Amino acid sequence: MNKPTEPLVQLRGLSKSYRKGSETVEAIADIHLEVQERGMVAVVGPSGSGKSTLLHMIGAMDKPTRGEIVVAGQAVNRLSQAELTRFRRQTVGFVFQMFNLVPNLTALENVALPMEFNGVPRAQRLARARALLERFQLGQRLKHRPRELSGGEMQRVAIARAVANEPRLVLADEPTGNLDSRSGQIIYELLREISAERTVIVVTHAENLAQLADRVIHIRDGRLLDAPPLVMSLGPRDGPARSVL
Ligand code: ADP
Ligand code: MG
Repeated sequence: MNKPTEPLVQLRGLSKSYRKGSETVEAIADIHLEVQERGMVAVVGPSGSGKSTLLHMIGAMDKPTRGEIVVAGQAVNRLSQAELTRFRRQTVGFVFQMFNLVPNLTALENVALPMEFNGVPRAQRLARARALLERFQLGQRLKHRPRELSGGEMQRVAIARAVANEPRLVLADEPTGNLDSRSGQIIYELLREISAERTVIVVTHAENLAQLADRVIHIRDGRLLDAPPLVMSLGPRDGPARSVL
């Protein structure tokens, strides 16, 4: 267990580069960031700024070239295969732009699936899946398959699935990228609601929706513009420290 004051996510000198022929593209360049337990953080940047790369590394779906990632007290880039599997099942939940639901499963079965991977008994996982979907106003859609749902409904099912195993961290990659503005607003409100019990990091290029988050961080060319140092003294040495956030 980590101490209550320890940040849930700590990134130290995180970098990721890709080779493109003879060139090296630095998708993420020396990022330092701390994110506290609970609440919603939005990372905003244009296409190609490194948002997905960053999120994938935090969720242990991709490995950094350099640097350290600690999530819930675990150094995720140094976990064994077995530890990685457990980390992905128990500590993080993902929400994707394209929803990524299993097409031949119903909404209820999609939400129950991660609990099956986690060894939750069938009756219990179906009851929890139903309760989550009802809470997300989808009680009338339990038996629907993804193709029978609207985009906004699919994303609500995906959010229910992401929290099924009660992860401490939910990572959402452009969750409203395929939705109209009204549905997008509902999805952000839902992410905000679930962030009362856990940390939600959402990456987006939608500046207006990001304003619903507790904290907004901007990313350009793989670098954070307005994240740490959290408090930087800009005045004379004995003057008040001013936050740059
Ligand atoms: P965003 O999600 O903000 O649109 P990405 O994280 O997908 O940005 O990409 C950041 C940069 O890294 C881009 O220049 C992209 O072309 C490059 N990149 C991402 N993934 C790869 C990859 N697998 N191979 C080579 N370059 C990549
Ligand atoms: Mg992306």
